[in-house]
Amino acid sequence: MSEPSVFTRILRGEIPSEIIAETENAFAIRDIAPQAPVHLLVIPKSERYRDVVELAAGDPALLAELVGLANSIAAEHADGDFRLIFNTGPGAGQTVFHVHAHVLGGGLSEGSLGG
Ligand code: AMP
Repeated sequence: MSEPSVFTRILRGEIPSEIIAETENAFAIRDIAPQAPVHLLVIPKSERYRDVVELAAGDPALLAELVGLANSIAAEHADGDFRLIFNTGPGAGQTVFHVHAHVLGGGLSEGSLGG
């Protein structure tokens, strides 16, 4: 058995973090190391899928649920516009292999990727 991910441990209350929103199968927290004025994470409650490619193949409805949750928290915590990023693989900067989306918003620069 592998160790539970940091996000599973947050969901269980073993690591402190505020769950700012949730749906039946997903939850949202603030990123501990924000890269934008608003930097939130949307995460399935299950860590069955390690990245967005596995999630899209295995449970597209859950992927859609993540996008819907991202949209609602971007409306609540930013101006409604947001950038949605799934780092996929270590070479792309993925460090937690429990699929999650970064929701970036609030004063992003225009016309740049990842800026
Ligand atoms: P990634 O590098 O795409 O796998 O994203 C993992 C994200 O999880 C990083 O942006 C981290 O800052 C964030 N993170 C790691 N530990 C915590 C934590 N305890 N609470 C909130 N965010 C965290």
